[in-house]
Amino acid sequence: MQDAWSSREAWVYECLCCETTWDEVLEVRHCGDGHGNEAAIYERDGQPCTTPWTDSLCPKCQSRNVKAWAASRKAGDMPPVRDGSDVAMVFHLRRIHAW
Ligand SMILES: [Zn+2]
Repeated sequence: MQDAWSSREAWVYECLCCETTWDEVLEVRHCGDGHGNEAAIYERDGQPCTTPWTDSLCPKCQSRNVKAWAASRKAGDMPPVRDGSDVAMVFHLRRIHAW
């Protein structure tokens, strides 16, 4: 039997080229495999999409040089970001496990 639940996450984006900021709310489907492992699938308008911290495109200048972070995260709770999507991923997973 699988564990599955959904939540909504607000993400904030900032373009590092033109400094545009915008946000987006994504549906997140969490699936546990019953062995303590967990996967999160992001959906935009009901369609599976890439994770918010990868593949973002600036709506203004079309740059892919975009920084993303979860808006629900408390200010000051964010580690310094170099460019690591891996870092964001790790912290995201940690946050899920903290629930
Ligand atoms: Zn831009």
